[in-house]
Amino acid sequence: MTAAHRAACVIGWPVEHSRSPLVHNYWLKTYGIAGEYRRELVPPEEFAAFVGSLAERGYVGANVTLPHKEAALSLSQPDQRARAVGAVNTLWLDGGVLRSTNTDVEGFLDNLDACAPGWDRDPGTAVVLGAGGAARAVVYGLVTRGVARIVLINRTAGRAEALRDSFGPGVQLVPWSERDAALAGAGLLVNTTTLGMQGQAALQLDVARLPPDATVADLVYMPTVTPLIAAARARELRTADGLGMLLHQAVRGFALWFGKTPTVTPELRRLVQVDPAAGKK
Ligand code: NAP
Repeated sequence: MTAAHRAACVIGWPVEHSRSPLVHNYWLKTYGIAGEYRRELVPPEEFAAFVGSLAERGYVGANVTLPHKEAALSLSQPDQRARAVGAVNTLWLDGGVLRSTNTDVEGFLDNLDACAPGWDRDPGTAVVLGAGGAARAVVYGLVTRGVARIVLINRTAGRAEALRDSFGPGVQLVPWSERDAALAGAGLLVNTTTLGMQGQAALQLDVARLPPDATVADLVYMPTVTPLIAAARARELRTADGLGMLLHQAVRGFALWFGKTPTVTPELRRLVQVDPAAGKK
């Protein structure tokens, strides 16, 4: 590797499905940067040795995907975001030190800012569905933006309780069975469950209960227009889809590895979009 030719990768097990190479290689080409972004299929038992030898392998950094996101936290120097979320998705070498962050937080917020400018002026209550890793990034992002009341709703109560305990009294729990009633008065609704994803059941939710000025975000990006996003658009609510978040979360890694802050463009969205109806992958 030379200063002029840098390489980064996405490490996963499996990793074939990752859209990150499409995104980063598009930006490399767009900005005329001599670099490369590859997939690395690494099993859990080899992950520590792999990240410990990133520099020898010619990498300036990496994305980390399932199932390595928690392991990456303990193998690197995480920033506050990664610690708060409890998972890492971006690694970079900084003078020999392996640093890490979780860019889902800014991916979520930057996409929301782009799709629904001013959403945080007077957000009122934010309703978050789900309590997995993605929900942790979303709740942390909402807290840092000063959203005072977050209603967290998850199928498994214990997981929601654990998340509430990490983020304090601003997070209130509502049972999964009462999710429709919780929508009245919500300024923001965020789906962080896997419901609505291709191959999964649709999210059963009465979007008609949301106020007319509410914003709806769905983290699911396959399909791009989920049943939730479609229902929100049918009501002419503002929406932020999962594909936008996926692209915005990639910006920081590219800037760290290749020294240029890239832009999320409609052309990139079209390239990365997975639309089963159109037969595109
Ligand atoms: P995860 O940790 O496995 O959490 C999955 C969540 O979905 C849990 O809250 C789970 O509830 C809920 N869930 C699953 N099946 C359900 C069902 N049948 N009924 C009700 N709830 C159900 O996954 P994650 O990492 O948080 O990811 C969640 C979603 O966000 C995925 O679709 C992922 O692709 C997406 N995501 C998108 C981006 C992006 O950039 N757009 C970034 C990160 C994640 P229980 O706790 O009850 O099991």
